[in-house]
Amino acid sequence: MRSNRPTSLSMQIVASLIVLTVASGLGLIVVGHNAVSLVDATSAEQQARFATRNFASIIAEQPEDQRSVTIWNDAVIRTAARDFDWMDENLGIWVHDYFGHDETYVLDRDNLPYYAAVSSERSSTDRYSERAALIAPMVTQLRETMATASAGLDNPYEELADVSVAAPVKFNDVTAIVSLVPIISESGRVSQTPGAESLHVALQYIDAELAQKIGAPIELQDVAFGPLAPAEGQAGIPATDLSGDAVAWLTWQPERPGTTLLMEMLPVLLASIALGALMLCWVINRLVRLSSQLQVSEAQARFLANHDVLTGLPNRILFQERLTQAMHSAVRDDNLVALVAIDLDNFKRINDSLGHPAGDELVRQVGNRLVDLVRASDTVARFGGDEFLILLRDVSDEDQLRRFCERIVVDLSHPYALLGDTANVGASVGAVLARADDQDWDELMRRADIALYRAKSDGKGRYSLFEADIGKIENERNQLESDLRKSLTSGTDLHLVYQPFFDENGKMKGAEALCRWNHPQRGALSPEIFIGLAEQRGLIDQLGRWVLETACEFAAGTSLAKIAVNVSPIQLRHSDFVPMVLSTLRETGLAPERLEIELTEQVLLDQPADIREKIGRLRAAGISIALDDFATGNSSLQYLRDYRVDSIKIDRSFVARLGKDDECDHLVQAMLDLVRAMAINVTVEGVETQIQHDRLASMGCKTFQGYLLGYPMEPGVLASLIANEADAAEGSEAFA
Ligand code: C2E
Ligand code: MG
Ligand code: MG
Repeated sequence: MRSNRPTSLSMQIVASLIVLTVASGLGLIVVGHNAVSLVDATSAEQQARFATRNFASIIAEQPEDQRSVTIWNDAVIRTAARDFDWMDENLGIWVHDYFGHDETYVLDRDNLPYYAAVSSERSSTDRYSERAALIAPMVTQLRETMATASAGLDNPYEELADVSVAAPVKFNDVTAIVSLVPIISESGRVSQTPGAESLHVALQYIDAELAQKIGAPIELQDVAFGPLAPAEGQAGIPATDLSGDAVAWLTWQPERPGTTLLMEMLPVLLASIALGALMLCWVINRLVRLSSQLQVSEAQARFLANHDVLTGLPNRILFQERLTQAMHSAVRDDNLVALVAIDLDNFKRINDSLGHPAGDELVRQVGNRLVDLVRASDTVARFGGDEFLILLRDVSDEDQLRRFCERIVVDLSHPYALLGDTANVGASVGAVLARADDQDWDELMRRADIALYRAKSDGKGRYSLFEADIGKIENERNQLESDLRKSLTSGTDLHLVYQPFFDENGKMKGAEALCRWNHPQRGALSPEIFIGLAEQRGLIDQLGRWVLETACEFAAGTSLAKIAVNVSPIQLRHSDFVPMVLSTLRETGLAPERLEIELTEQVLLDQPADIREKIGRLRAAGISIALDDFATGNSSLQYLRDYRVDSIKIDRSFVARLGKDDECDHLVQAMLDLVRAMAINVTVEGVETQIQHDRLASMGCKTFQGYLLGYPMEPGVLASLIANEADAAEGSEAFA
């Protein structure tokens, strides 16, 4: 689920981006559309307002036009005289020619026409009969207004100057602006009886010409008058009669500045939208690419956080996570979980002798071998250095775990090809089976570590399972360590015994110093127990120095030909080891030729160049070097060629098998032949029977050590043995 997070995140961002873009696009369209509509509507309103005003002023102007001829003494007089020619020139035809009125009528006091002109010709007054019915209400209205204005006046010429009625009227044949004014004296000098005034009626057709007159000043497009209200997409205003009914419509094609601007901008707009879409695509593409890069690097970072860089195996963090999970599911599913801790033997030696790249390669190969050993549900982890941990799930029982550990020990002991070199490396394995109630992984790791520690102290290259009493053993070891420290400080409870070795004739050639610890509570303890402990707990230098001093001191006080002292590989690693040996010899007064240092083969596996150089210095000083427990280690003969030693001590395990195992006999024989050929002395240790002695002697062996010839003995006992031997020798010399 977690690995999809970046994808879904990028999808979310992309989706948000698209939604945002679409929303802002829609917003822009809505706002733009509204703006365009608003601009269009505002412009249409303005046009309508101007058209209305123009139309209204044309209606209002019509009576004004009439007044230029109707408020005139001559007009009163001539009409009263029914001077039609004069009327043609001044009231009818002239008005048409000058103002463009289409029809003119003059009505008498009874509102009957006595003069009519249509266009520029006098006409029959019958013409008025077609108009009379619709004009009558206006006549009545005007007469009433006149009556009101002139009420109580004899000569109301001034009051009647402003009186008029004007409005559009729809006739059968035409629609026209009809306006009425009275004919009156401009000075009052020609008086008329109020109510007897003639009325001047003017008609101006509501037609295309008028439409142009209204629309042209304000540039209306396709302006026209018609009977119908404006169609869809058209604009228009009504021409209403006195009762407010629309008698005609002035229509035009409205100006749409918003739409026009939009249309003009459209190419640019479309180009920007296309560009925007392209940029959006680019951004999305980039985002998707970035997010997948991010996904990869996040996965890498997560991998690195949880894995060991060198082997690619899970590291401590991931291992702990898996262990916790495994422990939970083990409880749930009633399964057993096991922890296996692995530590390589001699890893440091590989690193030091073959170099770090070879060490790294070794770690990688070990990791691979371990991975090959487990199932997919198990986890192999590296905790750094040469430390590996395996989490095993679904372990059926302890036997299965033992078999698994055994396989690890065997598999890891096969040779490794390391960058042109071949190396043999063993491994120690400690394992623990989690109990159902184990929930503390720290405690489990600790137990696996204790088991591993025991496997190592039991001699490496082996496995050990944690048992409840290992913890106890651990405590005991701690106690033992502190006791050993005390004994070393106080110089009590520790002492040396000496086991002599002899030539084939039974003549003592020397003795080996063997350390003994008389533990205050536990009694005599074997060096196998406390030497290892001293090595592990950093006490071996102090102990080794004490052994060397004590043994040299003892030997110096006797005529012993050679004193052999066991030296731990750890002691030899120290840079001041050789000076320490030489100063001990000086202090005790023991000749270097009388000291033999016994080294186990193990020492030669360690830092070869350094060791070779130290062995060389010791030998140069006259000290002889013996290889102890010969043929129990990894590759003895190889080392014999590389390092010059004075003698070897064939391990007592070979001696014990002599006569029982043909192969062993051949091996011992071969060793003796080979070593003799290299001019190296051979001692056999652990000679317990005469048969063994004789067989070895017949094989050409020259030096013997073992219970048959002498147990390790107290210094006093050996000293008297030496003295006896010396006496006997003297005696025999004297006898001779
Ligand atoms: P090692 O150096 O091989 O010593 C010989 C061991 O074999 C001694 O055991 C000795 O008692 C035992 N042994 C001798 N003859 C016979 C025999 O005929 N049969 C049998 N079964 N055993 C025989 P020990 O004294 O218990 O020492 C064990 C090992 O502890 C020594 O093996 C040596 O490696 C180590 N060690 C003893 N003292 C010292 C010491 O002062 N310093 C160091 N570094 N190691 C020591
Ligand atoms: Mg020895
Ligand atoms: Mg030995």
